[in-house]
Amino acid sequence: MDKTIYFDNAATTQISSEVLNKMMPYLTEEYFNPSSLYSRAQKVKNAIEEARKNVAEALGADPNEIYFTSGATESNNWAIHSIVEQNKKNGKQCHIITSKIEHPSVLNVFKKLERDGLEVSYLNVDAEGRVSPEELEKTIKSNTVLVSVMYANNEVGTLQPISELGEICRKHNVVFHTDAVQAIGNVKIDVLHQNIDMLSLSGHKFHAPKGVGALYVRKGLKVENLLFGGGQERGKRAGTENVASIVGLGCAIAEATKDIEVKNRHLKELREMLLSGIKKIPKVKYNGSLEHGLTGTLNFSFEGIEGEGILLLLNSYGICCSSGSACTSGSLDPSHVLLAMGLDHGLAQSSVRISLSKYNTSEEVEKFLEVINPIVERLRKMSPVWNEKI
Ligand code: PMP
Repeated sequence: MDKTIYFDNAATTQISSEVLNKMMPYLTEEYFNPSSLYSRAQKVKNAIEEARKNVAEALGADPNEIYFTSGATESNNWAIHSIVEQNKKNGKQCHIITSKIEHPSVLNVFKKLERDGLEVSYLNVDAEGRVSPEELEKTIKSNTVLVSVMYANNEVGTLQPISELGEICRKHNVVFHTDAVQAIGNVKIDVLHQNIDMLSLSGHKFHAPKGVGALYVRKGLKVENLLFGGGQERGKRAGTENVASIVGLGCAIAEATKDIEVKNRHLKELREMLLSGIKKIPKVKYNGSLEHGLTGTLNFSFEGIEGEGILLLLNSYGICCSSGSACTSGSLDPSHVLLAMGLDHGLAQSSVRISLSKYNTSEEVEKFLEVINPIVERLRKMSPVWNEKI
């Protein structure tokens, strides 16, 4: 079989060799518990603090504002529950706001809280997948305690007007959380200037390992304990640290944020190739925002056929893509993101996501473009929906 062409970097990325090399000593000779007092253990602790510094630097934050977690699912759950719990303790009937296109690790927390009786609002998005700051402002009420809107969408790559949303939240004294998983290493983030109070990230989306992430919590904002136990993570998230992965995360985020411009230049070239190649196929709809979108995430609907069919045939050529997100791909329901953007069920179900990384090449894009047209033609020939149309 030919070499795999990996175009599913929004699902996960490969660990970079530099990251792996940095991690290896902590999986072998530097195995000490960072909470122990002897100097070799303190060296391990220092490595964690070095990683915390790197994460803080990448976000324009202070190291004391960073908590390591097992990934963004945990960070998102922690952030949302923490704010709700604090307000419940104060006896407040809270109202919380999110968008209709969030990742399930935010959306399903909101749905659960709604089932528990909390007042919840879900912001609409426009045809490009953007939330409107005006709608947010109108939705905020006197009992609103939290707004959680993702930085960049994982299915279509659309970026939200984060600074504007943050400013509105600050003006109304509402906590602003953002799930920035897909944005890290792709856009410059500055939590202070963007009025971000809490931010979630996950290492495996920028060439660190899976199972490690972080939550940023602005100084002065109280965070509830996530796990009770030892004093790790300033007593807020107990448990012996996942040292090697934290070190990997620290290395990867420094690498990813240093290279943002170079990476985007490269991805822009690949994006142009993909856009002009795919445009030649009739009845294809681009889903997302070229102006306000991640350079490396592209989503297309191929009218008249199922996205899953395209994925299977691409797979037979060794090409890995997704329809929707990996976290919802087990479901037969059309993407909630595409439906919120106004697509009908048929178009939403005919979507394919191509997500690139710095490791992808123009040769890989050429190979993809060589096979995509015949794949679409073949599937359309077999499609009753398509044949009815023509
Ligand atoms: N948010 C977004 C936008 C994501 O893309 C993902 C990963 N698919 C997550 C949250 C959850 O990250 P993890 O699975 O690493 O916890």
